[in-house]
Amino acid sequence: MHPVNPPARLLMGPGPIDADPRVLRALATPLVGQYDPWMTETMNQTQELYRRVFGTRNEATVLVDGTSRAGIEAALVSLLAPGDSVLVPVFGRFGHLLAEIAGRAGATVHTIETEWGQVFPTSVIEDAIVRVRPKLLAVVQGDTSTTMNQPLDELGAICERHGVLFYTDVTASVGGNPLEVDAWGIDAVSAGLQKCLGGPSGSAPLSLSPRAVAVLDTRRSVEAGIREPGDDVSEHPIQSNYLDLAMIIDYWGPRRLNHHTEAASMLYAANECARILLEEGRDAVVERHALAGRAMLEGVRGLGLTVFGDVSHKMHNVVAVEIPDEVHGDAVRSAMLEDHGIEIGTSFGPLHGRVWRIGTMGYNARKDTVVTTLSALEQSLRRGGKSVPQGGGVDAALDVYAGLSAELDAQLDGAVPA
Ligand SMILES: *Cc1c(COP(=O)(O)O)cnc(C)c1O
Repeated sequence: MHPVNPPARLLMGPGPIDADPRVLRALATPLVGQYDPWMTETMNQTQELYRRVFGTRNEATVLVDGTSRAGIEAALVSLLAPGDSVLVPVFGRFGHLLAEIAGRAGATVHTIETEWGQVFPTSVIEDAIVRVRPKLLAVVQGDTSTTMNQPLDELGAICERHGVLFYTDVTASVGGNPLEVDAWGIDAVSAGLQKCLGGPSGSAPLSLSPRAVAVLDTRRSVEAGIREPGDDVSEHPIQSNYLDLAMIIDYWGPRRLNHHTEAASMLYAANECARILLEEGRDAVVERHALAGRAMLEGVRGLGLTVFGDVSHKMHNVVAVEIPDEVHGDAVRSAMLEDHGIEIGTSFGPLHGRVWRIGTMGYNARKDTVVTTLSALEQSLRRGGKSVPQGGGVDAALDVYAGLSAELDAQLDGAVPA
């Protein structure tokens, strides 16, 4: 048995990624009890930080203790009662996950599907809403399984028009791609730390609009004894204790009703992730991901490889690269790991064995990581039996970065009066 002394790795897959060293330091700080005044104040501040990350004024903005899936399940099991109808547009693996979790919550699940590598036109989702008349629309924003980023900006208004609640899983996309929870009319949103937020998995930031909280208010557990006089409790209390968002919100809110022991170390990590993002600035972080993503995309093309899917709707932070016939996909991934210490991702379902997924996320959305990865990929492809243009990947990536520098120089020159 070995001690916990992990190897040095550069994690360039679809998540997790290397945590920012500041987050690792936060994780190593002392524990404090959840009713210590310092801790309650830190919890309040963490709520405010995530309101800013999400672009919302929602009072009900909290962390669910668990991986992103805990956030998804908390949202769906709390908003959906048995027999409620939910519409899930599926464009990858995580859409299937939303459908599966909603089904376990007892909801009647309606799905629409599109080919992997595509997103839905908004009108197709609206037509399905009109046909199904669901209580809830549940849709993934960025699905790492296909790298696609579903446009959400018009869905909130459509949902509001048809009296439908709107939930989205932004785990893979938040930070790296635009997200405006209030402006886009999103009622419920959940995330995780291990993609563009630069932290470990294990905490799920989540936010609910007043409209979503009103649904929870009708489903408070009688057993939990947290009804207020006059609460209109339905026949279907939330089917989970741990993931009961009515209880979790009362725990974070002014009443501070005891629920679970706060996962203090993960709270520190989540707090630091948000702080790092907001210090750099939301727009600047999205722009950094856009640039690193463009450099990786042009880099793999510079190696003569083909990018999978509708590139105009790709998330900034991950690219799916078609595995060339001349090489064995898993052999190249092993060479990347064993010879270079770099992890890239495999794929699921219809894409299994067809594409690698390479991420540029959070702390790893940087020029040096892009260049190092492309250089190692070039070497691994050549040794694996595929002839590739020498330096073609690194050159193309550096050209993207140089292009940006030239643009910036031009802007700065223009700003200096002659
Ligand atoms: C990566 C990812 C998750 C991860 O869920 P975990 O429970 O943290 O493993 C969830 N949703 C989406 C869309 C993802 O891309």
